[in-house]
Amino acid sequence: KRRVSGKALANGSVGVIYQVFENVAEKYDVMNDSMSLGIHRVWKDILVHKMNPSPGTLLVDVAGGTGDIAFRFLNYVRSVRERQLQQKLRHHQNLSWQEISKSYQEEKSNPLGDSQVVVCDINKEMLKAGKKRAQHLGYSEGLSWVLGNAEELPFDDDKFDVYTIAFGIRNVTRIDLALQEAYRVLKPGGRFLCLEFSHVSNPLLSRLYDLYSFQVIPVLGEVIAGDWKSYQYLVESIRRFPPQEELKAMIEDAGFLKVDYQNLNSGIVAIHSGFKL
Ligand code: SAM
Repeated sequence: KRRVSGKALANGSVGVIYQVFENVAEKYDVMNDSMSLGIHRVWKDILVHKMNPSPGTLLVDVAGGTGDIAFRFLNYVRSVRERQLQQKLRHHQNLSWQEISKSYQEEKSNPLGDSQVVVCDINKEMLKAGKKRAQHLGYSEGLSWVLGNAEELPFDDDKFDVYTIAFGIRNVTRIDLALQEAYRVLKPGGRFLCLEFSHVSNPLLSRLYDLYSFQVIPVLGEVIAGDWKSYQYLVESIRRFPPQEELKAMIEDAGFLKVDYQNLNSGIVAIHSGFKL
């Protein structure tokens, strides 16, 4: 593990951000749970529910790290497909046993209904940790891992139904370029969804949140991952990130329509959504 200097962190260049995530990759999931007291799981669930993907959806999860959004997506489409099969059986009680058996076999041989998710991340250590986790948790079908920069995605135009970026966009050096790339790789009709730390409007909560972020998180970083500076960077990057309305305007500038956002926990995080129409 290489130490990153405080001055370099303040500049937030691509190389430095790479170093931060290389340093935290192995402990990333443990740290996520301890820093957010497990709430990041709920936020990610809400993101995937909002997406409400149907079987057949092609998703790219940019800055996808260790696969949290991808795994949730796969679980979600699998459960939608199971529900569809059960409904079909319930509503067609006079199906022959051959038809029932055919539906079951189709479902069993293709539980995702051709859905796919591509996890794209700039950091090979994060992808390595993600692949290891996928193997451990038994995810393989419909899942691929691609090394790539959000600002210059290694994908063709008009390829994906949905683009997600969770807790990733604030680490991107040129957010405008990342948004343009999101627009380019989405199919017409495709949806952009961004889950990110944002700005708390309630003054009392904001004060408490500041205390927690600046006093507790770097200490947790030091104790759990032996890395105070990287976690201090993460906290500072949250404060520097544009507030809800500003990000909304940036998403519109990239060409997205019907852009809106939903605050979660008084704006500690927000989900921005937009469509390529
Ligand atoms: N999305 C995952 C999650 O929610 O758990 C990981 C989020 S983690 C805080 C941020 C991720 O963004 C890291 O894996 C980092 O490598 C990645 N990242 C930073 N800059 C990037 C860029 N320009 N392009 C793609 N990924 C980037």
